[in-house]
Amino acid sequence: MQNGEQSSESSSEDGGSSELATLAIVPLSAENANASSQGASDRPTVISNTNNAIPRITKNSLAHRSGQLYSRKGVHPFARLDLTLVSLPFTQDHFPGEQMKQFLTTLALFSILVSLPSAVVFGQTNDKAEAKLRAKALKIHKSVITLDTHNDISTSNFTDTRNYTQDLDTQVNIPKMRKGGLDVSWMVVYTGQGPLTEDGYTAAYKNAIDKFDAIHRLVEKYAPNEIGLALTSNDVRRLSKEGKLVAMIGVENGYPIGTDLNRIKEFADRGARYMSLAHNGHSQLADSNTGEADGVWLNNGLSDLGKKAIAELNKWGIMVDLSHPSKQSNLQAIALSKAPVIASHSGARALCDHSRNLDDEQLEAIRKNGGVVQAVAFRSYVSKEKSALRSEKMNALMAELAAKEGFKMLSRADIFKLPEAEREAYFTKYQAFRAKNAPIIRERLKDVAPDVNVQDFVNHIDYLVKKIGIDHVGISSDFDGGGGVEGWDSAAETFNVTLELVRRGYTKKQIEKLWSGNLLRVLDEVQKVAREIQAADRKAGK
Ligand SMILES: [Zn+2]
Repeated sequence: MQNGEQSSESSSEDGGSSELATLAIVPLSAENANASSQGASDRPTVISNTNNAIPRITKNSLAHRSGQLYSRKGVHPFARLDLTLVSLPFTQDHFPGEQMKQFLTTLALFSILVSLPSAVVFGQTNDKAEAKLRAKALKIHKSVITLDTHNDISTSNFTDTRNYTQDLDTQVNIPKMRKGGLDVSWMVVYTGQGPLTEDGYTAAYKNAIDKFDAIHRLVEKYAPNEIGLALTSNDVRRLSKEGKLVAMIGVENGYPIGTDLNRIKEFADRGARYMSLAHNGHSQLADSNTGEADGVWLNNGLSDLGKKAIAELNKWGIMVDLSHPSKQSNLQAIALSKAPVIASHSGARALCDHSRNLDDEQLEAIRKNGGVVQAVAFRSYVSKEKSALRSEKMNALMAELAAKEGFKMLSRADIFKLPEAEREAYFTKYQAFRAKNAPIIRERLKDVAPDVNVQDFVNHIDYLVKKIGIDHVGISSDFDGGGGVEGWDSAAETFNVTLELVRRGYTKKQIEKLWSGNLLRVLDEVQKVAREIQAADRKAGK
């Protein structure tokens, strides 16, 4: 999710579930005013940072999980700052010097606090049966290729001095992938929806290229011996065999192609292997799920250009991604696509009635098309109710604790009014206040408003498997884009998903399909169809 999510509606939903409420500055794309008023979004916004100091931006408001304070500087041209109540703690990665050190200390402490309960929940018991089950799960976890189809990135974490070789406070990076046994990360070239104008397209294209370049720097310059870019399923298997981690590239929102369909091949050449035609807010290609909020549509599904884009995606071997576009867009895309489609990060609407999730009709269409739905571990898409309740209780508790300690909590509006230096200082204090109270918050909320957790997430997998079959379901987190649940709140906790699947009786073969087999099968089919289309076009002299 990302930006735009800050809509009032979504801020209560999305901002909801996490361990701690936190204040974050989040940029919103201007046009997203539209999307944002409609709610829902999951992702960081655009950002190409230019400034080492504190750049980055990020996801939408809801970055629930981490208390990232996004401070700004280097915000994209069509982004605006917005302060949102977000939840969860962890991090910020852009504080210079002392502030950074303090922050990391806080973070380390917080990580411990947060992980303790998970250990209890997920059972480090001496019980023999439990130990046996864990051993079995661990064996399976190590033997299958684990693949997460949706991880957001900020270009500020792809520099010579700061990158994924370090255990940054991001939910995904090389040390965390190693620790949790996550083998493949689909890194996302996300662009928040902006104005449908030449200037808007130009800025969006630049943002997309910055992100492609960042991912290439990681695999070619910063960590070529640790992680490689895969373009095919064979690449994934080869890299895994070599003991390397794997990066793949997905494009979230086709907005950056503007009106030039040739850019689809260009993106394929840059490594893109899936693309959605819209994010939150209607694009020039497709209507967004956010249209449900006010019933205002731009294209009544796909635009003419969007329909042509589907054909180009098929031709160049890029999987069509249905996460974020509207239901009508998705049904049209499935009908038009000559190859199987995916939903890179979506839940089951029958379990959580959010416009970002897929209803049974869409699920059935994806099954018939041979595609795959990658269930998403994003709190407010997993359980709106739990997420909203936790947000509400968290905010009340934070206010109570602040009053007791004499900590003055500022409103969003007041924070905005502060000069930048004071704003930074406030965030630092706020972060410390929150970290100090983390155990109290956890304890007080655990019964009245339990966090959305891995069990809730796996309920979506169960539902999807029952509804459309084990061959059409996969796994995604939306990490660093607002995703994460208790128990799987960073790549370092990836084993907990496998453990829960084993606990529910899934076999090794089934788990292998869920973790990567299905998605890679679809990629193979998409690439086969692309070769056929290219051959036919060549024959026809096109
Ligand atoms: Zn998203």
